[in-house]
Amino acid sequence: MQAPSTSRRHAFKTLSVVAAAIWSTCASLPALAQDQVLNIYSARHYQTDEALYSNFTKQTGIKINRIDGKEDELLERLRNEGANTPADILITVDATRLEMADRAGLFRKIDSKVLNARIPANLRTDTWVAFSTRARVIAYNKRTIKREWVQTYDDLADPRLKNQLCVRSGAHPYNLSLGAAMIAHEGEARTEAWAKGLVANFARDPKGGDIDQLRAVAAGECGVTISNSYYVARLMRSNKPEDRKTMESLGLVWPNQQTWGTHINVSGAGIIKAAPHPEAALKFMEYLASDSAQIYFADGNNEWPAVANLKVDNPALKTMGTFKADALPVESLAKSIAAAQKAFDRAGWR
Ligand code: FE
Repeated sequence: MQAPSTSRRHAFKTLSVVAAAIWSTCASLPALAQDQVLNIYSARHYQTDEALYSNFTKQTGIKINRIDGKEDELLERLRNEGANTPADILITVDATRLEMADRAGLFRKIDSKVLNARIPANLRTDTWVAFSTRARVIAYNKRTIKREWVQTYDDLADPRLKNQLCVRSGAHPYNLSLGAAMIAHEGEARTEAWAKGLVANFARDPKGGDIDQLRAVAAGECGVTISNSYYVARLMRSNKPEDRKTMESLGLVWPNQQTWGTHINVSGAGIIKAAPHPEAALKFMEYLASDSAQIYFADGNNEWPAVANLKVDNPALKTMGTFKADALPVESLAKSIAAAQKAFDRAGWR
């Protein structure tokens, strides 16, 4: 492996003074130096992540420098830094964003027997790997909406729900990924018709995030919404009484149980093409697939581990129960994202 370029070393030093000190100590031992640190750009920042990172350092001696940021800002930063980036790994959420990073040429191919054995094939691609999953569920107001009206994503486009739907922007990755799954299962024409049906049922123009929609439904401003499962779990586990009250007003549905299953998305990571420490990066990716790391990673955001059959001890997820998940490979989903964007644009779901 060649030593990092001067400009990359400069950028690296700005990351962390401590890391820079380690770097200069080891500058005469490039192979060793490359294994001493790992630079992670992370769009996840939960309390349990601290243990996640420190356990890796304990196990391997590799120090982690982390830059936390918003998903889209980190992507932009990586694009701007190009070949001079100090980043080894990007951790982010949603297949749409991972796919955007991949299409921007940011990731390198991953070849790991450990990851291939541990992570189910439908949750990884050649260049990025999912480490936890979340579901896109339907939440409805129990006073105003009948449960049987909202059993599928298609039901949300039924004229019966006119003026009842609150949902975030169609340009947001969570909805684009759902649209991509729809396209993979039902085709572009049906997905566009579905999106038109949703728009016709809007109670208001899309604004805010999933939690804002959940609150609006509980308040009776609208009757139904779509939300990622961890927001539901977060409100259930909240120590604010008003959050728990919000959840008491809501009924939850795992959509599409009789057909292709509830849409699943992921948190995941890829190794940066220009990574200065690719070996340490691969070690970290493999570490994230270990049992203990999987539990930390998933639980930090009330998600499910990507590795099958791990015991999760999360009261909110337990309350939400089990369901049939869409088995669509994230790879296939990623392929339909651009088409989903076009379908939503044509349908006027901004
Ligand atoms: Fe989110």
